[in-house]
Amino acid sequence: MILSVKTKSRTELIDITSQVAEQVKQSGIGDGLCMLYVPHTTAAVTINESADPSVRVDIEMVLNQIVPWEANYKHLEGNSPAHVKASLVGASELLAIENGALVLGTWQGIFFCEFDGPRTRKIHARVMDARLR
Ligand code: ZN
Repeated sequence: MILSVKTKSRTELIDITSQVAEQVKQSGIGDGLCMLYVPHTTAAVTINESADPSVRVDIEMVLNQIVPWEANYKHLEGNSPAHVKASLVGASELLAIENGALVLGTWQGIFFCEFDGPRTRKIHARVMDARLR
């Protein structure tokens, strides 16, 4: 299935945990895998703390510090920092499903990472049956 996310800022981390969990629930799979894939060159997906919203703000801040908007970039479209951040964070995540639910730590959430918004984005979610034998 394909999840849709509307981003509102140029850079933004959006908690998509409940959307992904709903897809896992609807699949009816007890033990398996959930693959998330972002088919964009200026966006990414990551897993990190969702309990304290300041963590995602700090991640954005550090990414902006290590990948500045202004530099001697060659890419004519003018969004090279967004491409670099997308590669640093990565386009996919693989999560385990146990007893019909995503295996996430107490403080973990799944974040869609926008680096060149605002846009409407897609995340492919593939839920697979993978019983342990
Ligand atoms: Zn570009």
